[in-house]
Amino acid sequence: MTRPSLPFAALLAALAPSLGAAQGTTTAATPARPEVHIVATGGTIASTNYYGGESGKIGVEALLKAVPALDTVARVSAQQFSNVGSGAFTPAMWLALSRGIADTLRARPALAGVVVTHGTDTMEETAYFLDLTVADARPVVVTGAMRPADGVGIDGPANLMHAARVARDPAARGRGAMILMNDEILAARDATKANTVRPDAFVAPVRGALGVADPERVVWHRLPVRAPTFDLANVRELPRVDVVYSYVGADGAAVDALVAAGARGLVVAGVGRGGLASAQRDAISRAIAQGVVVVMGSRTGAGSVPVGQGVRRRGGAADAPEEPSTVGAGDLNVQKARVLLMLALTRTNDPRQVARIFAEHQ
Ligand code: ASP
Repeated sequence: MTRPSLPFAALLAALAPSLGAAQGTTTAATPARPEVHIVATGGTIASTNYYGGESGKIGVEALLKAVPALDTVARVSAQQFSNVGSGAFTPAMWLALSRGIADTLRARPALAGVVVTHGTDTMEETAYFLDLTVADARPVVVTGAMRPADGVGIDGPANLMHAARVARDPAARGRGAMILMNDEILAARDATKANTVRPDAFVAPVRGALGVADPERVVWHRLPVRAPTFDLANVRELPRVDVVYSYVGADGAAVDALVAAGARGLVVAGVGRGGLASAQRDAISRAIAQGVVVVMGSRTGAGSVPVGQGVRRRGGAADAPEEPSTVGAGDLNVQKARVLLMLALTRTNDPRQVARIFAEHQ
């Protein structure tokens, strides 16, 4: 026997009143609905197939239609920035996205906050870039989905709903960019994708969640680390920064090749607390001598690497002249350290200054 299939959006529209009630988002709790702006960029939340990489199937209007109860929490406006899998994001898109959000916030003083829908694969990088560059106190909440819109038990509509609830919450102000996934609010700085498929893929391994979007209210546990944002006014493009992995038997070939390709910075996914494979050392020293800024991170997934000074005494003697050295990533993971280094290099090439910037962001 075949069953008639009901498109997901139609199903949700039919369930809308009970969905709103079930999520505790009735208008009674919210006398005047704040304004929230949604910027859609693509990803699984806007796709219909896990395996085919079919991003770009669902436009922002259809995304909104699939969550009619959004209307009960905010007056929503929306914009399609792009409709791509997050692996297709580029640094140039980061610049455009950040500037667009800043312009929207400036032009609309009544806006409570912004929600960005994004593929989950590189969501943490985009979210951190926005955290470091959008100077407005109003929140930017980045969300997405682990399951495609035509899947079973999908998470996209709930994530979008909760992201809007966080974005309109006055207590979200001053907390920078955040990731809302699976009811949890994570600081963009701290969040990482730690599972390829599960709806609870996002974690903040060192510092934990900022809060949760509970059914009846948004609950805040702590404040995130905040440091002055980077001004993009004179930034035409972001410098090339690459990531190098350390492992048993790694040599300097990748480092030399990346420097030859024009990298102005390197972030090392080091062993343990920021260690290098022995055969990588000479190539890293050569890179530093050529003016490449090298940040040491860790491939472990949690814990920190000492931030340090960005310089050391030649040969280790106390009175020897200083020479440039590596900078530690602190507890930023490697992909976050890369984002911060790209922005730091828009200001300075001096490892001592870069070390100061990394210390500020711990
Ligand atoms: N491949 C998708 C993306 O990052 C995965 C997702 O959104 O979950 O665009």
